[in-house]
Amino acid sequence: MSDKIKLNVIGDPIEHSKSPIVHGLVFDALGLECDYTRVLVKKGGLSEYIESAIESGVRGFNLTMPHKVDIIPYLKEIDSDAELFGAVNTVKIKDGELYGYNTDARGFVLSLEQNGVDAEGKSIVILGAGGVVSTLALKLTDMGAGRIAVMNRTVQKAEAVCEKIRSYQKDGRARSGCELISGGTDEAAKYLPDCDILINATPLGMSGVGADYDDLSFTDGLNPSAAVCDLIYSPPKTKFLSYAEARGHKIINGRGMLIGQAILADEIYLEKQLDIGGLYEKLTSGDYTI
Ligand code: NAP
Repeated sequence: MSDKIKLNVIGDPIEHSKSPIVHGLVFDALGLECDYTRVLVKKGGLSEYIESAIESGVRGFNLTMPHKVDIIPYLKEIDSDAELFGAVNTVKIKDGELYGYNTDARGFVLSLEQNGVDAEGKSIVILGAGGVVSTLALKLTDMGAGRIAVMNRTVQKAEAVCEKIRSYQKDGRARSGCELISGGTDEAAKYLPDCDILINATPLGMSGVGADYDDLSFTDGLNPSAAVCDLIYSPPKTKFLSYAEARGHKIINGRGMLIGQAILADEIYLEKQLDIGGLYEKLTSGDYTI
């Protein structure tokens, strides 16, 4: 029998998931072997999948659409981030029981930390208001960010993100004290002079998307000491990041977040403390495409 650690990523669709590549990089760096496979699990198919995963000795699995919320009733325990977001991206199977975690936002936070950027008390501007922003903004609020401005093409979506976090602050689920501002992307320039961290969380500039920022001069008034992040990892340096780099800003691409989420999940699966900083350094500086 193979002694490779069996792991899965489940979802629908699943064929484009990069998880096998990214987890493969982490396991290679650890000198361990894993059998990490994509499994197509349709909505409503969790019970059947879980039964077969336990049966076949799967150590854990990552989840993507449409299972991140539906998995919750199957879990014996859930970590604080999964509880905060109401969503799970990592499940460990132990003695036939399931334990849920969410490493999505911690991957981003790890990439900030590894670049010497601290969110506490900081003014943050996020461009975009999609699924990932809701999670990141909630995590940054909970880490003590001073102000988060969510700026989006569709203003109502930015408002919805901020409203959700305000309601969490009111009922004590999220830390209070962070000011939340919503607006259209055309209003972003207003919040840039005293911004400490600017984040692109739109797919503009991503390989294969075919759309990019036409003009980035709206960022010219950005606080010169601000760090500039792009959640995109392919290409490693988007036009958004190149523009910021040319103006002397520290730049952080999405590779760190992607790798960080995987390292943190693998630490859970392996149930041992990993050299997270060392792994991060090794895997984010490697010359490869994801
Ligand atoms: P999403 O839910 O699809 O949201 C996309 C956001 O981008 C929306 O706010 C949308 O605005 C905006 N947008 C899309 N096309 C636009 C355009 N042509 N002009 C202006 N705004 C546009 O996506 P998501 O899941 O939040 O992900 C956002 C980005 O993060 C993606 O690039 C994704 O690849 C990246 N990501 C990276 C990681 C990582 O590990 N590095 C993890 C997750 C996500 P509207 O609301 O107006 O449609």
